[in-house]
Amino acid sequence: MAGYVNRFAPSPTGPLHLGHAFSALTAWDRATEGTFLLRIEDLDQGRSRPEWVRGIYDDLRWLGLDWPEPLFQSTRLDAYDTALARLGEMGVTYACTCSRADIRAAQTAPQEGPDGLIYPGTCRALHRRPGPDDAVRLDMAAALNLTGPLSFTETGIFAGEHRPTRMVEDIGDVVLSRRTMGAAYHLAVVVDDAFQNVSEAVRGADLFAATPIHVLLGKLLDLPAIRFHHHRLIRDETGKRLAKRDDARAIAAYRAEGATPEDVRRMVGLA
Ligand code: GLU
Ligand code: ZN
Repeated sequence: MAGYVNRFAPSPTGPLHLGHAFSALTAWDRATEGTFLLRIEDLDQGRSRPEWVRGIYDDLRWLGLDWPEPLFQSTRLDAYDTALARLGEMGVTYACTCSRADIRAAQTAPQEGPDGLIYPGTCRALHRRPGPDDAVRLDMAAALNLTGPLSFTETGIFAGEHRPTRMVEDIGDVVLSRRTMGAAYHLAVVVDDAFQNVSEAVRGADLFAATPIHVLLGKLLDLPAIRFHHHRLIRDETGKRLAKRDDARAIAAYRAEGATPEDVRRMVGLA
């Protein structure tokens, strides 16, 4: 599709498996007359490894894909800091000093959101300005007050116009920056999709529930709206979704056994 800028955004924390192949090939196929970009999501420096980055290049090249210079999130920390500072000035963030145990203890019936436990809001009333070593949370209600109602276009399995509601109840005050790791996934992905001029984010259905967070952050930061394309998850014979440690289904393992890129396309239902 002409004009598309799509990206594949793997974390280099293990081998790419069939689920990643499906994601990368879907993005590639949808960008035939556009641009396919690669973003290495290596913010978790404890788990990211250069050999997995090389593995990503090898697997994708073998599948027949190419891309301009990849973007490494580890080189983008200043951009995330700038975005975080801007949100701070808008008054929609606060410092949070709670541990996971604190969060669990504050609730009688802890509720799960797209980001794990929904935060009970303990630190919100304090409205402390985050210091350099604090976790930073988004004040969801305050943020929605500024943006008003949200909407986004989905072109994948949830195709249609979506108008997220109940974000305070069902998502809550998500973390935007962690004490030890800096910018969290939600902030980084939004800042980088805009920086890379991505027009459509292709990714697994598991991230659909987090998409309203990304739409909200994009609107707060005045970034151009993008479309989303969520695809079905690739599962093993028992119906379990593939995980990083599922080495048996690594693309490299199929390659070593003599499979062709066409075989991989067939295995994920693309050929
Ligand atoms: N880095 C994420 C992952 O490995 C994907 C992020 C995205 O596509 O928005 O699952
Ligand atoms: Zn807290």
